[in-house]
Amino acid sequence: MRLQELLDQAGVFQSGLVDTAGMRFEQAVRDMCAVNTCQKYNTSWACPPAVGTVEECRARIQQYEKFLLFSVKYDLEDSFDYEGMMAGASAFKETCRALDNKLRPLLGNYLMLSNEGCGLCKECTYPDAPCRFPDRSHGSLEGYGLFVSKLAKQAGMNYINGANTVTYFGGVAFHPEALAVFED
Ligand code: SF4
Repeated sequence: MRLQELLDQAGVFQSGLVDTAGMRFEQAVRDMCAVNTCQKYNTSWACPPAVGTVEECRARIQQYEKFLLFSVKYDLEDSFDYEGMMAGASAFKETCRALDNKLRPLLGNYLMLSNEGCGLCKECTYPDAPCRFPDRSHGSLEGYGLFVSKLAKQAGMNYINGANTVTYFGGVAFHPEALAVFED
């Protein structure tokens, strides 16, 4: 199966590849994260501060050479449709999980990031016990210090997709030789 076919099946709207060496991990984004608009800060092993410093996040991603950014667009009733935004955020998490399950046997060694929070367990063990599934927890792009609008531009993707829509982003860091499994 081609990678694009797999992404299409998962419902991915757009995707683009960047070299991890060209990705910028910014403390300013982490600082915005710490303002805690999403109310996930300091609530799981996949969020700051538990996810480590921005420098540690950079090193974790840059042990891989390539980063596939992907997005899904959701329609809203209007620009104030908070419930629609939350439903989209939740649906995107499921898309990331489904994609993760499909990629796992194919890519083997990779690291996936998604939108805010981990959300894998009903209740995160943080901070009382170790993460139950360290290989399957998803950190967030913002938590890693990534400015998503800049990264989308780098990857040739739209950050905003029109009025009354919301777009969520995730990404997969991987070694390029792993792509061979998608060749016919
Ligand atoms: S996998 Fe579970 S324990 Fe680990 S960060 Fe996610 S929610 Fe928390």
